[in-house]
Amino acid sequence: MTSTKPLKSLKQKITLAFYIIVGMALFNGVVAILLSQQLKSEIEHLVGVDVVKVTTALQLAKNSEKLQIITARLNHYDNEQQRLRLLSELSAQWELLINDSRLLALIETATVSKQELNHALDIQLYYLQQLPLLAELTDSALQANLQATNIQANLTSMASGFTDEMQTQFHSINADSERQLKLKNFDKIAMNINTNQQLSQFSHLGEHLFTRLSQVKIIDNLVELNRTQREAMRLLLNMEAILEGVSGDTSLYFNLLSQIKQTMVGEDNLFELSRKAIKSTHIANAHLEYQADAAQIVATYTQNLVNQVENEIQQTGGELKSDSTAFIILIFCSGILYCFFIWLTSWHFITKGIIKPVMATRDAMNAIANEKLDTHMPVTDNLELQQMVNSLETLKSYAAQVKGMAETDGLTGCYNRRYLDIQLQKELEYARDHNMPLGIILFDIDNFKQFNDRYGHVAGDQCLKNIVNAAKSILKRPTDMLARYGGEEFMIVLPSSHLEEVYQFAELLREKIISLEIPHEDSPHAGILTISAGITCWQLPQQLDANSLINRADEALYHAKLTGRNRTEALLGQPIRYS
Ligand code: GH3
Ligand code: MG
Ligand code: MG
Repeated sequence: MTSTKPLKSLKQKITLAFYIIVGMALFNGVVAILLSQQLKSEIEHLVGVDVVKVTTALQLAKNSEKLQIITARLNHYDNEQQRLRLLSELSAQWELLINDSRLLALIETATVSKQELNHALDIQLYYLQQLPLLAELTDSALQANLQATNIQANLTSMASGFTDEMQTQFHSINADSERQLKLKNFDKIAMNINTNQQLSQFSHLGEHLFTRLSQVKIIDNLVELNRTQREAMRLLLNMEAILEGVSGDTSLYFNLLSQIKQTMVGEDNLFELSRKAIKSTHIANAHLEYQADAAQIVATYTQNLVNQVENEIQQTGGELKSDSTAFIILIFCSGILYCFFIWLTSWHFITKGIIKPVMATRDAMNAIANEKLDTHMPVTDNLELQQMVNSLETLKSYAAQVKGMAETDGLTGCYNRRYLDIQLQKELEYARDHNMPLGIILFDIDNFKQFNDRYGHVAGDQCLKNIVNAAKSILKRPTDMLARYGGEEFMIVLPSSHLEEVYQFAELLREKIISLEIPHEDSPHAGILTISAGITCWQLPQQLDANSLINRADEALYHAKLTGRNRTEALLGQPIRYS
């Protein structure tokens, strides 16, 4: 059988299937690699940039706070050492801020943020440059303060000396007045009282003055300082005026007043130094305030940045999560697709294209081996399998020929003895199993030796053929079988036929042969060829094998020959004669 489909090579098909599977695997692999690379870069960005950004921004915020603390501490330093340490800390802190800001500006990708960072960086650099000026200002303030402190220390000791002196003076005047009272020198006493009053006023003003001067250190604004200075000057002038009116030796007090005056009006006087310290401190504090503000701006900016990056990280994390889910789904889908393709290719190419035709070919081969020669050959579009099927087709026809040769008689074309023996045994078993009768006819050509002798063997052979054809022509049922039993003896097997039917058939056959009118000069029956037949029939419950059944037919035939030929004899247990 030839396929209507064009034949394709099995090798090519398998190669194609292999390439498809490999291609799918490669495609799957490439998709997986590409997606994992994308995920990797997203994670790297998250870890490498965003985390660094957050860490740096937090560091920046922390440093800004530290800077604010240092600037606050720089408002109140007590000594040079403290001032220098705070200034160096401030400088170091600005440098840290600048470094972090530079790093942030470097990794920042958003243009607006980058501009803001660069602007902040400029401000930071400006303040770093301003640090020497701040150092100068704080130095000047500290120096002025120290000098003012020294003057005030002098004033403090002067104040205590003044108090002691005044006490001593009052004691001395009082002692003198007591002495004068004894002497009844009332003028002197009156003078002493006057002096005492004046000195008391002087002392009162002096204490006032010292109090004012001692307050200079805590004054932190110029208006107050100027007012205090005016008051102090007024007190000093009043004290001088009082001293003018005091009798006696006042040189000590004038000397004291001159010393006090020196601290108030001389070069680098207390007020001037305080003014200088206030001015420098004010400017320095203004600077520090600006720096603190700048640090605060940085802190606020970085805090915003941290919030922003946190949001970005959350967003990227979300994207990463959805990307990884998509990745898993994609890999899963491509895996399913891959499996589907493998199934499709294996089903289409291997199952449908190879295994099924191979199995069909195997079944056909089995059928041929079991002599089922009507088996249809499988149809395939495989070149190699079709070649196999073609060879099998040839083998089938050979097998059919061999089978025919094994079953048929070469001369007459009816079944041979070998086939008869097998088939008779089968029919007997079938009849036994189905409780049906089985009839057989064994017929033999009468005086055939003489026919051969007179007409020759070729004519004898032709005669045999004619008789077989005549017998065949009256066989009605496909189950009825004609076989050459041997020589010029033939057997007809008639399944499910009773003896009467068998007899009728044998007689029909005998008459049919007569009707052929084959001339046979040596025949005693009107010079034409005749046959004799022995029939028998098997039926349950007879216990009989095929040979015994044949023997019975043979015996019946023998009787037919004995009783004159051209007749049918039956034997059923014991001979029954029909004439
Ligand atoms: P009877 O009536 O008793 O059967 O007489 P007969 O001559 O037929 O008896 P016999 O069985 O002795 O002879 C059978 C003959 O059949 C002998 C043989 O030459 C002939 N014969 C057997 N087979 C063939 C064959 O294939 N071709 C030819 N031409 N003759 C055959
Ligand atoms: Mg004969
Ligand atoms: Mg014979």
